[in-house]
Amino acid sequence: MQTRNFIDGQWADSHAGRTFENRNPARHDEVIGRWPASDAGDVARAVAAAARAFRSWRLVPAPKRGELLFQVGRLLAERKEEIARVMTREMGKVLPEARGDVQEGIDTAFYAAGEGRRLFGQTVQPELPNKAGYSLRQPIGVAGLITPWNFPLAIATWKMFPALVCGNTVLLKPASDVPASATLLFEVLEAAGLPPGVVNLVHGSGSQVGDPMVAHPDIKVLSFTGSTEVGKRIAQQCGGTLKRCSLELGGKNAQIVLDDADLDLALEGALWGAFGTTGQRCTATSRLILHRKIAAEFTERLVARARALRLGDGLEAGVDVGPVVNAGRIPAIAEYVEIGQREGARLVLGGGAARDGELARGHFFQPTVFDRVTPGMRIAQEEIFGPVVALLTCGSADEAVEILNGTLYGLSSSIYTRDLNRAQKAIRDIEAGIVYVNGPTIGAEVHLPFGGVKETGNGHREAGTAALDVFSEWKTVYIDYSGKLQKAQIDS
Ligand code: NAD
Repeated sequence: MQTRNFIDGQWADSHAGRTFENRNPARHDEVIGRWPASDAGDVARAVAAAARAFRSWRLVPAPKRGELLFQVGRLLAERKEEIARVMTREMGKVLPEARGDVQEGIDTAFYAAGEGRRLFGQTVQPELPNKAGYSLRQPIGVAGLITPWNFPLAIATWKMFPALVCGNTVLLKPASDVPASATLLFEVLEAAGLPPGVVNLVHGSGSQVGDPMVAHPDIKVLSFTGSTEVGKRIAQQCGGTLKRCSLELGGKNAQIVLDDADLDLALEGALWGAFGTTGQRCTATSRLILHRKIAAEFTERLVARARALRLGDGLEAGVDVGPVVNAGRIPAIAEYVEIGQREGARLVLGGGAARDGELARGHFFQPTVFDRVTPGMRIAQEEIFGPVVALLTCGSADEAVEILNGTLYGLSSSIYTRDLNRAQKAIRDIEAGIVYVNGPTIGAEVHLPFGGVKETGNGHREAGTAALDVFSEWKTVYIDYSGKLQKAQIDS
C-alpha cells in the first residue's frame, strides 16, 4: 500500500519529510504504517494542482465524468474485502460494519455516476413572448473535504463523488486515525483513470492541514464532517470571505420506546444503535426514552443483552463490539461516566475500560448503561461518542418527543410504536434531520438526504440530490429572440 500524499496524479512525500504513525486500536503494538505529516506547503501544491485540473475537468461532459465514477464503483467493489479489513485494523469497527462502510462508498459511486446523465435544471415558460428561460448547475471550483475517522470510506465518498460529477476538483484531508483507508480509496481513483489533479489527498492533522485548507482562497467550497466545536470555528473562518461551507456535526440521538411498542424489536434496535461501531457514530443512540410502563422490563432486558456482547478485535468472527479509536478516547469516555455518577444517574452496566486477557492489548471500553437519567444532566445533553447509553423515562408520546427535542443537536431520532397516529405526530414534531419509525437511529441510505438541524449542521445535506446543492451553483439563463428590448415587470 502507498503511504504518501497523492497530488497532481503522483504519490508524493510531504515537502518537509515529517511522518506520523498509525496503529491498530485493537492491538496497540501493531503499527499499520507511517504517513506524511503534511503542512500548508503541501496544501498549497495540492490546491494549485486541483485549480489547474479544474479548467479542463469542468468542461468534460457530465455523463463522461459519470462513466469514470462507474469505474470507481466497480473497482471499489472488487477491492471491498481488502479495504474493509484495512479499515477494521486501523479504526476498530467490526468487519461486517467495515464492509458496510465500503458498500456505502460503492453505492454512492453508482448513484453519483447516474447523476452524470441527470444534473437536472429547470426549463420554464417565460412571461414575455419570444424568450426562453432555464437554469443549470455549474461547478464551483476546488472543493476542500475534511472528514472524521468513524466512516472512512462512506463520508469521504459522500462528499467526493457528488463534487466530482458536478465538475469540481477535490482535495481530501482524512482524519489522521484513518490514513490507510483513504489511501486505498485513492489507489482506486488512480486506477480508474481520473485525470491528474482532479483528486488530491493530503494527510496530516487538523491544525497543520485542515486549517490551511479552510483559509486557502482557491478552495471555493469546503465540506466538513466532524465535531460541532471544530465546525463552529470553521464556519466563522469561512464567514470572513463568504466561502461556501457545508457542516455535518455532532448528535445526541434518542430512541423512543412507547408502551405499545414491539419490545423485542425495540431491544434489537437499541443494542445496534447504542453499541454498533462502539457507539462512535454521529447517529448513535446515546439516549433511550422509555415509557414508564415498560421501562423496568426493557432496562432489565437491555442490560442482560448488553452484558453478553462480545468485545474484541473486529477482524475476529463473533465479535460484537470493537475497540474505541485511540487511547485518548478511554479517559474522555470515563470522564462522562464520572460526570453521570456525580449528577445522580445510576450506573447499571459497565463504566470503565475493558482489560481482560487479549483486550489489554487494545483500547476497549465496556458497554455502559445509565438509568435514572434526567433530561438536564450532561450525560443526557452532550455527545459522548462511545458505548454509553443514557436511559430516561416518559409518561406519554408528547413528553417523549419533548425530551428528545431538548438538546442542542438534531441529527437522527427513532420511535418504536404500533400506533400510526402517534408515529405520524412524532414525525411532524421531532426536531431532527432524520426520523426512523420502528428502526434504530442508524442506517442511512445514499439516495436520501443525510444531515441534521440545530447545532448538528448549517442547513446543508449530504447524499441524495441534496448533496448536489452543496457542490454546484445555479446559473439562470434568459434568451431573448424577439429582436427588440423587452422589459420584464414594466407596464407597457
Ligand atoms: P473532529 O472534529 O475532531 O475532526 C474531524 C476532522 O476535522 C479531522 O479530519 C480533523 O483532523 C479535522 N480538524 C480538526 N481540527 C481542525 C481545524 N482546526 N481546522 C480544520 N480541520 C480540523 O471530529 P472526529 O473526532 O474526527 O469525529 C467525531 C465527530 O464527528 C463527532 O462529533 C461526530 O458526531 C461527528 N460526525 C458527524 C457526522 C455527521 O454527518 N453529522 C458524521 C460522522 C461524524
